[in-house]
Amino acid sequence: MPMHKTIRLKPKAGRRAKAGAPWIFSNEIEMTPGTKGLPPGTLVNVAAGERELGTGYFNSKSLIAVRLLTSETDAAIGKAFFADRIRRALKLRETLFDGPYYRLVHAEGDGLPGLIVDRFGDTCVAQVTTAGMEALTDTMLEALDEVVAPSAVLLRNDAPSRALEGLESHVRAGRGELPSRIAIEENGARYFGDLAGGQKTGWYFDQREHRAFMAGLAKGKSFLDAYCYSGGFAILAARNGAAEAVGIDSSGPALQLAEEAAAANKVRCSFVQADVFEQLERLAAAGQTFDIVCADPPPFVKSRKDLESGARAYRKLARLASSVTAKGGFLFLASCSHNIPMDRFAQECALGILRTGRRASLIRQGGAGGDHPVHPMLPETAYLKALVYALD
Ligand code: SAH
Repeated sequence: MPMHKTIRLKPKAGRRAKAGAPWIFSNEIEMTPGTKGLPPGTLVNVAAGERELGTGYFNSKSLIAVRLLTSETDAAIGKAFFADRIRRALKLRETLFDGPYYRLVHAEGDGLPGLIVDRFGDTCVAQVTTAGMEALTDTMLEALDEVVAPSAVLLRNDAPSRALEGLESHVRAGRGELPSRIAIEENGARYFGDLAGGQKTGWYFDQREHRAFMAGLAKGKSFLDAYCYSGGFAILAARNGAAEAVGIDSSGPALQLAEEAAAANKVRCSFVQADVFEQLERLAAAGQTFDIVCADPPPFVKSRKDLESGARAYRKLARLASSVTAKGGFLFLASCSHNIPMDRFAQECALGILRTGRRASLIRQGGAGGDHPVHPMLPETAYLKALVYALD
């Protein structure tokens, strides 16, 4: 007697899943009344004709109706399964980084769809985004205890995408007593994050390599970090000997943490609370320039319908940011919107920069670091795009 019910794909459907992708869309499934009636998050076996595709979880409410967890059919999805996946994820991070500060689990990229875990030393922040993973949360926490033994785990279950799965939003302690403040060590610098009130999981680990690259250019230079959050780029630039480092962000609490981090790193930075577009316009009007300018904004293309307006915003940001980049300087532009592909983002950046009449060469293109692995059959989930230009 199998443990899980079997869901069947329509004839000829599921081309990507048959090739190894972990997603099956609702229109690819034979929606029999029995299938449709399965509670959101039910573990299922998936069959495509004679072929078995493995074990996953099902949610009839979601467009991505099945997310496969393993290619093994009728697999037990218990503590041992999670411990195995988390151990594999941990091994990769321990190979990549010196200290325990990284994204430990990056959803499909680590074989755990619907789950993100960021690690800040002894404290982990988990984000669950699907009904299937929600139902498995207790098992996941037990496995995390076994493999990592964090002293505290925060469940930061307030991502807007939970609504697509019919899940409510909540933030609660999953384990232990949570510190209000966490410290992050990255690229030799020290930063702070505020767990419950901060953005996302408290820190953006995805820009680690770009922070190091940009800071590497900064010695003796003036440095502007637009959308600085808690000081990621600016503080590292100052540590690397930037003559001046300025951060701009609209969030007072994020800037407070940036100020504290500057002090902890014994560097001088100035942080300005302002809207970046307005501040860049003011700086440009005053003729003020910086040798290095970074602009790492929030997602401008939140959903596909925002593509055109978001693309225009990226173009405008590229124009304004290049207008405050000094001659011979460097400009870093990033997008964390997975709804804009790299080629379109690069095109908007190019148009924005060239509008100022500057000559530019693209010297580096990047994505998120190795602690944000991408499932090879889901290239579209590689959301972070970063471009570095040298400007004449
Ligand atoms: N560069 C940061 C991450 C940036 S996240 C790092 O390296 O960690 C995006 C930031 O943009 C957030 O801190 C948010 O507060 C800020 N933000 C959003 N809209 C803004 C606006 N209109 N003007 C200034 N900052 C804004």
